Amino acid sequence: MSEKPWINGAPAGGGKPEPVLNPATEQPCAEVAPATLADLDAAAAGALAAWTGGWRELAPGKRTDALFAVARALREGADELAGLESANTGKPMGDAVDEVDMAARTFEYYAGAVTRLTGQTIPVGKAGLDFTLRQPLGVVAAIVPWNYPLLIACWKVAPALAAGNAVLLKPASLTPLTALRLGALAHAAGIPAGVLQVLPGPGSSLGDALVGHPLVRKVGFTGSTEVGARIMALAAKDIKRVSLELGGKSPNIVFADADVELAAAKSPLSVFSNTGQDCCARSRVFVERKVYDRFLSAFVAATAKLKVGDPALRETEVGPLISARQREVSERFLDEAKRAGRTVACGGSRPAGRGFYLSPAIVTGTEPGDRVWREEVFGPVACVRPFDDEEAMLAEANDTPYGLSASVWTRDLSRALRVAKRIESGVVSINSHSSVHLEAPFGGFKQSGIGRDLGMDALASWTEVKNVYVAP
Ligand code: NAD
Repeated sequence: MSEKPWINGAPAGGGKPEPVLNPATEQPCAEVAPATLADLDAAAAGALAAWTGGWRELAPGKRTDALFAVARALREGADELAGLESANTGKPMGDAVDEVDMAARTFEYYAGAVTRLTGQTIPVGKAGLDFTLRQPLGVVAAIVPWNYPLLIACWKVAPALAAGNAVLLKPASLTPLTALRLGALAHAAGIPAGVLQVLPGPGSSLGDALVGHPLVRKVGFTGSTEVGARIMALAAKDIKRVSLELGGKSPNIVFADADVELAAAKSPLSVFSNTGQDCCARSRVFVERKVYDRFLSAFVAATAKLKVGDPALRETEVGPLISARQREVSERFLDEAKRAGRTVACGGSRPAGRGFYLSPAIVTGTEPGDRVWREEVFGPVACVRPFDDEEAMLAEANDTPYGLSASVWTRDLSRALRVAKRIESGVVSINSHSSVHLEAPFGGFKQSGIGRDLGMDALASWTEVKNVYVAP
């Protein structure tokens, strides 16, 4: 399979093709020609022409129809898309199938949301009528990471299109395949040429140029905090709008009055799904000392049972990491922890054979200053620490530059609500390992980001507010 950028409704341009790997086999699964800077200029000009030439003025009902048609195309192409995603990322087929379904549901949600994008009428001090309009920004960029390539692309593209923008989508260089298919499927489903351009290529050169491009009015980014800071700095020059979904080091808090067995059974999913390459990974596990031993042994047992292996098999729960480099990052964290005398209670080993596999690891005995406790690993590594006092635990849980997700396990409703309010993070789930809902805002406090994906908040973020006053 050989792919090119998707520009103005067709494959076009591209530099020297580069292989993209299947992380489970370490072999190429396709080759992709990265977009050049000339391609970027052509794509931006084409997007502007498509926007001013019809998409901007399209009646809301027609945009609804177009987005529903994309959702249908995603569902019809689900087998192929899930296969591509699994081969390109190493994620288990079951997860890839679920993610394509969620991608389609994202388009369905925003198809419906188009006609809910309303302004206000405002009683101003003078006679007359004052009202607000929500207007599209124009040409916008979406820059997405490699961990959920199709899904996160849809989280940005669907609301941006629903709001009436034209989108330049840049997938991560490691995982461009499903984004390119999205461009082709959306066009075949009726999205006009130029309204969704897909530009694979390196963040360093193409990404910088995209953020700095004079026609781009907003950048919606998901990726590391480091790159997010760079994008914000680049965007500052032209006062471009940004929304940034960045890294995390989220807490998973288990109180003694919780259903400890349920918490232990579900907690592996809260940190090891997607092989720990998840911004929401709840990798700092706080357990009230009274139930620490009971929780730890059940958590280790549930983790050791996870089926690590070939992503193509439907029973596989944990696939390989995305790359050799990403596995080495996790291994370095584990080596450092061992050298400091911490205990690796399970996992952390490479199975024999090909593929960037690493078995899910649980580390105990860490101290708050340990790197493995403080820094985002973005791999299958969790740390567990006991706590005695709710206040002290909360101070420790919030002692991080990040603030993305959190789980709280307790049967005491007042405690659950008290702790949920005090945790400094954008999403909190109580007695659940997950907190992402397409209908609800998702994003971070502090260095985990600015702005929100999903829900109506995301739709509004792809618009400008205009205030109109009509004299009597
Ligand atoms: P990354 O920051 O390296 O890359 C993300 C995207 O940015 C890629 O498309 C990359 O090519 C591009 N990029 C890199 N440098 C750029 C530059 N200078 N200008 C413009 N674009 C540039 O992140 P990654 O390694 O792909 O993903 C992992 C990170 O993403 C983790 O930190 C994770 O927590 C974070 N993440 C956050 C969320 C969230 O919603 N908060 C979701 C998924 C991943």
